[in-house]
Amino acid sequence: MDFFSLQKILEENTDFIITCHVNPDADAIGSELAVYDILTQIKKNARIINYSKTPYNLEFLDSNKVIEKYDPGKHDEVIKNSGVIILLDLNQLSRTVKMENAIRNSPAIKVCIDHHTEPENFSEYMIVDNQYSSTGEIIYDFLDKTEIAVLNHNIATQLYAAIMTDTGSFRFERTTPELHRKVANLLEQGVSPYEIYDQIYAQFNLSRNKLLGHALASLELSKSGKIAYMTITQDMLKKTGAFESDVDGFVNYCLEIKGVEIGMLFFELKDGVKVSFRSKLDVPVNKLAEKFKGGGHFNASGTRLFNVKLNEIQPQIVESAEELLRNNKN
Ligand code: 5GP
Ligand code: MN
Repeated sequence: MDFFSLQKILEENTDFIITCHVNPDADAIGSELAVYDILTQIKKNARIINYSKTPYNLEFLDSNKVIEKYDPGKHDEVIKNSGVIILLDLNQLSRTVKMENAIRNSPAIKVCIDHHTEPENFSEYMIVDNQYSSTGEIIYDFLDKTEIAVLNHNIATQLYAAIMTDTGSFRFERTTPELHRKVANLLEQGVSPYEIYDQIYAQFNLSRNKLLGHALASLELSKSGKIAYMTITQDMLKKTGAFESDVDGFVNYCLEIKGVEIGMLFFELKDGVKVSFRSKLDVPVNKLAEKFKGGGHFNASGTRLFNVKLNEIQPQIVESAEELLRNNKN
C-alpha cells in the first residue's frame, strides 16, 4: 500500500484503534503517539490499546496518559467494533500476544506500518519496508508526503524518540544523510536531543542498574570466542527488584568485547525463555531467531520460547550461533 492509500483510509474512517508489539520500545510508543496526534488533528476518534504496560522510562512520551493497557473484558468489544486497527512496529499478529485473536477476528480494516523482515500477510493494507531505520521514520515520510496533518512539537518529539532509539543513537546502518535531514526537521520543531536521551537512557531506577551488574557478571564466551552471552534469571529480578522491561539494551554489552560478533541475552520467564540476539556487520541474526520461532532484523532479533528450560535451550542456541558464524564465512 502507498502513503496516499493510507491517507484515504484515515480520512474515510472515523473510529481507530492503534496498537504495537509486546514489550514496547520507544519506536513503538513514539509511532503510536504520533499517529494518535495525526488522527486527533483530523478530528478522528482514536484509542491506543497495548498488551504491555508502557515502560516507565517512556511514560514521559504519553504525557496525557492516553495509552490503555489491554483488558479483554473492556477492549475486545471495542476491537470488534472499530473501523480501523493500526498495527505499528510489528508485522506478525502474534506480537500482540493475547490481543491476537480479538484483532484477527475483528472485521476492522487492518493497517500495518512496520520495518521488520518476514512479514505475515494478514492484511492488504500493509506498509512494511525494512529499508527504514524505524517505524517512526515511515510515519515521518507519510506526514511529509501527504501533509495530512501538521508536524508539531509533540509529533516531532515522538518521532525523534522513535528514530533515535531504533538507530542506536544514530549509529546503525540505516543512519544516512537523508535520515539526518529528516531528523533536522524534527529538531526545527524545538525538540531537545539532550532531554529525550536523558529521559529514556539516564533516569533508570537503581534496581535496573543493580540488575545490569548481575547481567554483566553472568557474561560468558562461546568456544570460538565470537559469541558472548548473558543470562538473567527470575531470581536476579527478585533480588534486585527490577522489571523485565529494565533489561532493554543490556544485550548490547555483549558486543562490546573484542572479537565478538554475536551477542545474546537469555532471559528466564516464568514459563519459558526470551532470547535477544544482536550482531555486528554481516552476521544475519534474524536467521538465528527464525530458527527458534522468532524474528526481527538482520542485526537485532529475538524470540520467546515457552515450555523450555533455560539450561537445556541455551547450549542448543549457542551451538546454532556458532554454526551460523561458520556458514557465514563461506
Ligand atoms: P529485543 O531483543 O530488543 O527484545 O528484540 C529485538 C528485535 O527482535 C525486535 O525489534 C523484534 O524485531 C525482534 N523480536 C524480538 N522478540 C521477537 C519475537 O518473539 N518474535 C519475533 N518475530 N520477533 C521478535
Ligand atoms: Mn522499530
